[in-house]
Amino acid sequence: MQAVQYTDHGGHEVVTYGDAPDPTVGRDEALVDVKAGALNHLDVWTRRGLPGLDLELPHIPGSDAAGVVREVGADVTRVEPGDRVAVSAGINCGTCEFCRQGEPTLCVDYQVLGEHTTGVHSELAAVPSDALVSVPDGVDWETAAAAPLVFQTAWRMLVTRGEIRPDDSVLVLGASGGVGHAAVQIADHVGCEVFATASADEKLAAAERLGADHAIDYTDSEFDTRIRELTDRRGVDVVVDHVGEKTWRQSLRSLAKGGRLLTCGATSGPTPETNVNRIFGNQLTVVGSTMATYGETEDALERVWDGTFTVEKRATLPMSETARGHELLESREGFGKVVVIPDSEYDE
Ligand SMILES: [Zn+2]
Repeated sequence: MQAVQYTDHGGHEVVTYGDAPDPTVGRDEALVDVKAGALNHLDVWTRRGLPGLDLELPHIPGSDAAGVVREVGADVTRVEPGDRVAVSAGINCGTCEFCRQGEPTLCVDYQVLGEHTTGVHSELAAVPSDALVSVPDGVDWETAAAAPLVFQTAWRMLVTRGEIRPDDSVLVLGASGGVGHAAVQIADHVGCEVFATASADEKLAAAERLGADHAIDYTDSEFDTRIRELTDRRGVDVVVDHVGEKTWRQSLRSLAKGGRLLTCGATSGPTPETNVNRIFGNQLTVVGSTMATYGETEDALERVWDGTFTVEKRATLPMSETARGHELLESREGFGKVVVIPDSEYDE
C-alpha cells in the first residue's frame, strides 16, 4: 500500500509518501480502506519528536481518518465489512484503576493512534474496532475524517470538564484552529456568550459565522485588554486556551473572579510563566482535559453528522502533499482542518 511516512524526526520536509507493507489485522482489529484523513497539531509535534516518545521508524503518522471496513479480526463484533467508519484515536487498556472507574482518558497506558502507535494516513489502516465510530450515509469522507479528534477534545473540555452553562461567557483562543473552531460552535450551541480570537479579517468573519458574538483580532490589541473593555472590566467566566506559553498570562488576566481556564494543548510551548497570586486571589480554576470517552465522542459527532456543527477545511490535499499540510498548520495559514486523501482516491 501507499502511506505517509518518515524515517527521521525533523521539519516538514521529512514527510514522504510511498510504499509500505500492508498492515496485518489483529484479532480485535478492523482493516479500514481509508478514504480521507485529517491533520492535527499532534502530527506536527510527533513529527518533530517528543521527549520520552521512542517511535519505531519509519513511522506512519495520522490520528484522524475515515473509510470503509474491508476485513475484521476473529474477535470483532462491533463492525463488519462494508461499514462506513471514522477513527477515534484514543486507545485505553481497559484494566487499570482509571479504566475500571470509567475514565479511559486517564488510563495509565493511554495511547493515541499516530502518536504512540502506527497512524492512519495510509491507503489501509488496521485499527482496534473499539476505536471506530459509525458514519451515516450522506456524511462526506472529508467531514467524517476531519471531525473526530478536535470535536471530541473540545466537547469533553467544555461540556464534561468545563461544565459550561448557558449563562457563562466563554473566550476561545485561536478560533481558526481545529479545536478552536469546534469550541466556538460548542459554546454557542450550549447558549454561552462567545468571544473568539483570530488574526485577519476573513478568520474573524469565519469565527462570527460559526457562532462567536465577539471576534477579537489578537494582532491588533492585547486580547485581555479587549476582554476587559467588552465585559465592563469584569472578565469572562471561561477561557479555552490551547496555545500555552504565548497566551497563558493574558488568559488568566481575561478571567472574571471565580473563572476557569480550560487547557487541552500548548501549540506555542508548554511552560508559561504563571502569576499564582492571580490564581488564588481571584479563586480561579485551571482545568486540564485531553481526548474523550467513546460516549463523549459520539455525543459530539452526532451533532457533526446532523449538521449542527460544521467542520471547516482550510485545504484538501493528496497524501503525497502531506508535508505541505504540516506547513499550513505551522504557519497558521487558513481556517479549520487540513484534509489528506490517498492519491489513488484523490481527484482534483
Ligand atoms: Zn487503562
